[in-house]
Amino acid sequence: MMDTALPVRIVLSHTSHPGNVGAVARAMKNMGLSELHLVNPCEYRDYEAYARASGADDVLNAAVVHPQLHSAISDCGLVFGTSARQRHIPFVPVEPRDCAAQAVQVAKAGNRVAVVFGSERTGLQNEELALCHHLVTIPTSDVYTSLNLAMAVQIIAYEIFLAARGECAAPERDEPLATIDDLERMYVHLSDVLEGTHFRDHSQSGNLMSRVRRIFNRAQLDQRELRILRGMLTALQDKQQA
Ligand code: SAH
Repeated sequence: MMDTALPVRIVLSHTSHPGNVGAVARAMKNMGLSELHLVNPCEYRDYEAYARASGADDVLNAAVVHPQLHSAISDCGLVFGTSARQRHIPFVPVEPRDCAAQAVQVAKAGNRVAVVFGSERTGLQNEELALCHHLVTIPTSDVYTSLNLAMAVQIIAYEIFLAARGECAAPERDEPLATIDDLERMYVHLSDVLEGTHFRDHSQSGNLMSRVRRIFNRAQLDQRELRILRGMLTALQDKQQA
């Protein structure tokens, strides 16, 4: 048995079936997770949800509701989005086992980690995925790639459980990771600095900032690295204004 719960949060965005919310609560409790956050969910505290949660009413009752994804993950140092589909922005998808190994290592080093799941009908929106460090795809048959929401959570939570059970190595990094809030402030700063230059997006693809985000998100910046970048941006800004 795992003695202390890992700070790994499951976030469900725009879930439309109460039964799925209940089934997710159960999948989490089975695997030792307890932090459930819901972004703009359906009315979920009904008979169906409690029936599917079964012995995990406590996880369901403690669920935290947010108006949008940003506030559900703003304090997290590592965020995984999940999707069955390939998106326009080229993420290199991570498999659940690698996601779990990273999640456990980063969580054990004291950072908050989130795994975000999309709605049953449309999945995660591109703007939501842009907030995530990595995209996780559960390998499936090519014929039908989309799992039921709670089953997708079950698979990721199971991998996290196994990784937590096996993990005893010391964390690689001692500096806390930059949180989503820190990163968002850096992106605003970077955009401001770029606006003050004659920089042009020659790719003409119109999604320059999405690609820039991908670079920094992949790097999983820690707070010291983020302070260095912010310092550089401020120095450039001072030069622009001089
Ligand atoms: N019709 C939606 C599918 C939603 S399934 C779409 O086209 O995107 C509901 C959620 O379960 C997804 O948003 C994702 O979070 C998760 N999910 C389902 N299948 C998955 C898979 N193969 N890999 C990773 N996540 C998956």
